Amino acid sequence: MRRSPCPTLVTTLALGTALLAGCSATATPGGGSTPAGSPTWSPTATVTGSASGSPTASGSAGATASASGPASTAAPSATSSARPTDTRTRAQRNEAFTVNGVPVISKKYPINADYRRSSVTQPYGLTKQTQAALTAMTAAANRDGVRMLVRSGYRSYALQKQILDRKIIEYGSEEMARRYNAAPGRSEHQTGLAVDLWDGVTWGVGVRNTKVGRWLWRHAWEYGFILRYPDGKEAITGYAFEPWHYRYVGKTVAKAFGPRSNLTLEEHLGLA
Ligand SMILES: [Zn+2]
Repeated sequence: MRRSPCPTLVTTLALGTALLAGCSATATPGGGSTPAGSPTWSPTATVTGSASGSPTASGSAGATASASGPASTAAPSATSSARPTDTRTRAQRNEAFTVNGVPVISKKYPINADYRRSSVTQPYGLTKQTQAALTAMTAAANRDGVRMLVRSGYRSYALQKQILDRKIIEYGSEEMARRYNAAPGRSEHQTGLAVDLWDGVTWGVGVRNTKVGRWLWRHAWEYGFILRYPDGKEAITGYAFEPWHYRYVGKTVAKAFGPRSNLTLEEHLGLA
């Protein structure tokens, strides 16, 4: 869609940070912004293993572990009464705050510029597991007649800072800029575990009612992805509803979310 979706964002400012950050992602290394007319990748290009053909496969098939360790099989929020605490010092934030093997990155649990992705793939800079799951998910969507495009994958700390700095100048107000733009270190996109998906036409909350948005909400969990910022959960996640932003957590964890879920990662991990 060239860059035309960006101006439409003006009408949806309330969506907040990641939306505008996504808009600015034309600078994403590896082509995070995608021309609407072209498929972003071949669905059959790098499908790895069993996940591609088995949307109903159990959590044990394929890439189920989270990026930084084995995925938990327990339901921590149900069994643990003590809220997990982030004991990292500022210097230790080159590692993500992790609960039961699941990295949590948010305004409350930031990472620093030295965070290293566990592995890196192209063209979106996602971790290997995330990309494999995405490839499988996209292929499945295609089989259902839904063409899904990547709008934004990995975004570096430096890029996120650049975006915010530019917005501060644009707004003439740091406070305003911070209301609508994720500060560096607060974006899941820095981990290569998150991806913004759309149909190449409709951006913003409208994604919810597109074929892509509806398909994802129903099926993403089968591939290990969750809707990271559900509607009405801003107080918990720190972000407004983002029907396009999906976070890879592995099939085992995603199974606890299931189809059409408004559960948040924070709730699931006992952080809410
Ligand atoms: Zn996003």
